[in-house]
Amino acid sequence: MSRILIVEDEIAIADLIRIELEARGYRCEIALDGEAGADCIEKKQYDLLLLDIMLPKIDGYELLEYNRRTAQIPTILLTAKSRTRDKIEGLKAGADDYVTKPFEMDELAARIEAVLRRYHKGNEVQKIGDVEINVNMRTVKKAGEFVLLTPKEFDLLTLLVQNKNYALYRETIFEKVWGAELEFETRTLDLHIQRLRKKLDWKDRIKTVYKIGYMLED
Ligand code: CA
Repeated sequence: MSRILIVEDEIAIADLIRIELEARGYRCEIALDGEAGADCIEKKQYDLLLLDIMLPKIDGYELLEYNRRTAQIPTILLTAKSRTRDKIEGLKAGADDYVTKPFEMDELAARIEAVLRRYHKGNEVQKIGDVEINVNMRTVKKAGEFVLLTPKEFDLLTLLVQNKNYALYRETIFEKVWGAELEFETRTLDLHIQRLRKKLDWKDRIKTVYKIGYMLED
């Protein structure tokens, strides 16, 4: 269930959005000013931010910037009809989309769905312990730091992750990573496993399974 933070100082509007979105299966929280919004972003996890621009204490732009530097929650701006400049500035400042007040709930819901879908697709991240693997971008982070892997090491890692907690035969791994046309070479495979263990500090996680091959334990 996706969690949405609504930062909106008009209680009636915030409540209406919350009721409508909860009826559509989202979980919502409301922050009534920018400062409360920043507190929520700092302390909790959300999948999406609905952000009004004209807010007391900290305005929507500042909060957008704060979010960009910290939690990076996908954001839809709620803008007043007359303020075209807000939309442009907002999108430039990193918002994913905006809706103009007054809006139809169906339109808002459709935009929320689209942003969540886009975000999910663009960031297919798998997590094992403190290691994050971005399959689309082919990047790996450990404890927030990028780890450089060779293309074969990356392929090997994704194969192990896709089959985590299953022992894989050496021959199977080799064939999937290096291709069936190459002759199976246990030395090449073992060397790559050693490199992965070292680079990710996964000596204990990538197990050698006697007479079979390897297994990633999660
Ligand atoms: Ca407002």
